[in-house]
Amino acid sequence: MNVDYTGRFAPSPTGLLHAGSLVAALASWLDARVHNGQWLVRIEDVDTPRCVQGADQTILRQLSACGLRSDGAVQWQSHRGDAYAVALQSLVDQGWAYPCGCSRKDIESAQTVARHSAAVYPGTCREGLKGKPARAWRLNVQAVQTALGMPAITSWTDRLLGPQQQNVREEVGDFVLRRADGLWAYQLAVVVDDAAQGISDVVRGQDLVDNTARQIVLQRALGLPTPQYLHTPLVMGENGEKLSKQNGALALDLQQPLLALNAAAHALGLPTMPEHTPVDQALARWATFLANNLGAAFAKKA
Ligand code: GLU
Repeated sequence: MNVDYTGRFAPSPTGLLHAGSLVAALASWLDARVHNGQWLVRIEDVDTPRCVQGADQTILRQLSACGLRSDGAVQWQSHRGDAYAVALQSLVDQGWAYPCGCSRKDIESAQTVARHSAAVYPGTCREGLKGKPARAWRLNVQAVQTALGMPAITSWTDRLLGPQQQNVREEVGDFVLRRADGLWAYQLAVVVDDAAQGISDVVRGQDLVDNTARQIVLQRALGLPTPQYLHTPLVMGENGEKLSKQNGALALDLQQPLLALNAAAHALGLPTMPEHTPVDQALARWATFLANNLGAAFAKKA
């Protein structure tokens, strides 16, 4: 076992596994196997109002039917609140996180005045709440970057997509760490858990690529290591949109795991396996194929 490689698949149980999410699951599993590392499953159930009851267990069954089983104990983010609270407190103590009293409406009108794009938080509460009650907690991106001597533009290299960059301050603004409803934000939870689980390589769908720079800034603020990232191609539905739970991607048929795996393999540029190939054999063949084909779907780890 290569102790330098730990990968993970981190589904949100807001719906079942579907053809799109299986691509990320298969890619992360294969990448871990090819590097002789371990592969962990983490259930990202922080956004409780959006979680579907029982979806976590069904996802684990779906993965297992596809031969994808966690090498260590499965972790649930809903049990990790204490660790997230410690992380937030350390940022508050450094003066790098501040309470925000803005409602969605406040943010929208401030964006219009400042001609900010709708995606960018205009920094309204950075200098204080001005009498408003605290709602959410945000990261003061500029304070972190200045204190740590980080450039405004965060650059990183995706193992598949190559060099990437984002000016988090201008393109995103001070992002949320804890939401107004008290729930932990994805960015904080994912960064704390990737580090706590010793994740060396994050392999996930390209729809998440845009989050990476924020996560790198947060890792630096918390003194945590940055894993390597590889973002896999998205599976498009017939309407040309990415397949997602939101647009009604069908859940996988547990009776036909090879069919689902073959579709995922195809999306990753891997050969499809003949009908009736046992799932474990198909997985082993894909791992061998990947290990022998440097130019194939995945970039080799440096
Ligand atoms: N839980 C996220 C999702 O299902 C994935 C997070 C990640 O891989 O970083 O979209």
